[in-house]
Amino acid sequence: MDPSTQAPHTQPESSRDADALLREARALLVAQITEQTGITDERLLGAFLRVPRHRFVPPENRAFAYRDGALPIGYGQTISQPSMIAIMLQYLDVRPEDRVLEIGAGSGYAAALLGQLGREVYAVEIVPELAERAQNTIADLGYRNVTVLHGNGRFGLPEHAPFDKILVSAGAEDIPPELVRELAPGGRIAIPVGDDYSQRLVVGTKHADGTLDLQSTIQCIFVPLVSSAQS
Ligand code: SAH
Repeated sequence: MDPSTQAPHTQPESSRDADALLREARALLVAQITEQTGITDERLLGAFLRVPRHRFVPPENRAFAYRDGALPIGYGQTISQPSMIAIMLQYLDVRPEDRVLEIGAGSGYAAALLGQLGREVYAVEIVPELAERAQNTIADLGYRNVTVLHGNGRFGLPEHAPFDKILVSAGAEDIPPELVRELAPGGRIAIPVGDDYSQRLVVGTKHADGTLDLQSTIQCIFVPLVSSAQS
């Protein structure tokens, strides 16, 4: 059937089938996340049910988009493992009124998930091609509360601070003080801290007096956060 002759609200049979299969694949992914992490929070898992991860994965890896694993996205970078993102999001406890910053947007997938959970999201990516691709994917999907910017996020995004939540999706040697400064009182940061090969996910909650309450959680492996002034 010629799609141009159909009423706008109808879909060809095959694309309806494809949508149903993709929804099923996401439901299976969510089941894997729960099995891996014990997370059952419906609001959090609902974000993984809605966001189409295959759209954030390059065509050659799309067949693996709904496996619970990291995948290459080009430029030596990866889209993170869904269950790892779920753990980070659970620690961050993103509320519907939150303004959120992500450092290391990569494919834009985690930023899209953050957009489902919070009010407004800024995501910074240092590789210009990835930043552009992520912003295009987000725009195509109509996620209007998510903005991807090209730049070095090591020093945060002072022009849009303060943030209620900050997610760092790359491994840092320690917690950059600039990011702590950009956190609102009561705000929270989740950041992998360690060397290039292994880190621990550190979760910090900022008190009204500006000090940070730190919790060291699970072990993880992220690509390194570029910490120099380059961008
Ligand atoms: N959250 C991403 C995965 C990120 S991988 C996703 O869902 O797909 C980590 C990303 O951090 C990489 O794309 C890398 O280029 C980026 N990165 C590393 N150092 C950075 C910095 N200083 N500022 C911004 N992005 C950085």
